[in-house]
Amino acid sequence: MSIPPRRDRAAKIIATLGPASADDAAIRRLFLAGADVFRVNMSHGDHPTHAGVIAAIRRVEADMGRPIAIMADLQGPKLRIGTLPDDGIGLAVGCSFTLCLNETEGTANRVTLPHPEIFAAARAGDRLLLDDGRMVLRITAVDDGLIITRVETGGRLSSHKGVNVPDAALDLAAITSKDRVDLDFALNQGVDLVALSFLQSARDVQALRRLVGGAARIVAKLEKPQALDDLAAIVDAADAIMVARGDLGVELGAAAVPIAQRRVIKAARAAGRPVIVATQMLESMIEAPVPTRAEASDVATAIYGEADAVMLSAETAIGRHGVAAVTVMDSIIRKVEADMAADIEPQAFSTPVEKGVPVPKAVSRAVREIAASLDCAAVVTFTSSGHTALAIARERPASPILGLTPDTGTARFLALVWGVHSLRSAEVDTMPDMMEIVRDCVARSGIARAGDVVVITAGIPLRTPGTTNLIRVATI
Ligand code: PGA
Ligand code: MN
Repeated sequence: MSIPPRRDRAAKIIATLGPASADDAAIRRLFLAGADVFRVNMSHGDHPTHAGVIAAIRRVEADMGRPIAIMADLQGPKLRIGTLPDDGIGLAVGCSFTLCLNETEGTANRVTLPHPEIFAAARAGDRLLLDDGRMVLRITAVDDGLIITRVETGGRLSSHKGVNVPDAALDLAAITSKDRVDLDFALNQGVDLVALSFLQSARDVQALRRLVGGAARIVAKLEKPQALDDLAAIVDAADAIMVARGDLGVELGAAAVPIAQRRVIKAARAAGRPVIVATQMLESMIEAPVPTRAEASDVATAIYGEADAVMLSAETAIGRHGVAAVTVMDSIIRKVEADMAADIEPQAFSTPVEKGVPVPKAVSRAVREIAASLDCAAVVTFTSSGHTALAIARERPASPILGLTPDTGTARFLALVWGVHSLRSAEVDTMPDMMEIVRDCVARSGIARAGDVVVITAGIPLRTPGTTNLIRVATI
């Protein structure tokens, strides 16, 4: 049996698939370059196309012998204006511009805005941002189905451009009727992660959880200021968090994005939730074969900041250099991690021993210490729900984590998680079983050789989530 590729880095890479990367060969190249998770964006493309892409990912997964996670990203309540004349209109600073709830023919001074929630919540003084924030309207009056505005930043506006309403909390369901149809489709296709866009509170995550059940894990995309106000509860309700810097930048302004990124990563890390930094990471590589120095630095900042994963969007979906973008990301991550490993400063979350922590956390900390003291080849975790592997990853041990699980969905989910090399294994019932499986999986993964020391951790009784309570040091 050939040895499946094992990444020599801990942080993970997510690649968005699209027209530039939709077939087996392209997906395989992205995987070999370093993509661990693939994102399918439900905002673009149709179901037959997505089904084709998902089937292609599964073929690559089977061929490579490695679990690959698939993330279906739901569009969410994306707000858009109606139709305008074919060549668009010019919005001049200082002019008046009206938005009508009712269907109306778009002209140089008015357009339809088919979202009653905006009319209910918007107040004079609030801003409406058009086309990813390129144009700004300031509301002067809201009047029975009409919003009168003054143009603050002008530009050229065309049909169906996006609208952001940063200053008002909208009474909008985070799951639209399109999202429900897309969700049904995605779950039928067996995706592993469902990403929720434009959520405003933890209740939105809970609503999605009721629809998803246990069929997939939920990624909460932090892209609205209202969501930042409910950050702790959202982190608690979701399985993973994404710093969605595109829309976040539109709503908060670019200058506030780095601060939000740092805050969201901290909250997710403290709760042990995997956290993804997304959008424009290597944006110039859509066209260029090399990144800007600022982009390289941005990826490095996310890694130094302890993100679990970094994401590529248009770079791999429509870009001309998608494989190069993954290769660049892979190389930046490896360099930064080598630098962090050489750093003698303790990491942010390796806090001093405290009393009263839950058993899994205490055990995970001890595992980290033992692994460091023994210079061990790997931390081997037995995990059914992924709980034990997450608890260990949270402590950021210096050795790679081998995440053994009999559950295919868990093995795929762990592809997203910092430091974890996941592998399907047989069910374990007894301790001698366990050692047998460790030897087999260590050999299969190539993570350690005969004579190497590994630290094994699990929860007894086995197969009960959240019971991480066992440490065993073994020589292979
Ligand atoms: P999107 O989300 O690519 O679906 O818009 C990410 C973001 O807004 O950053
Ligand atoms: Mn977005």
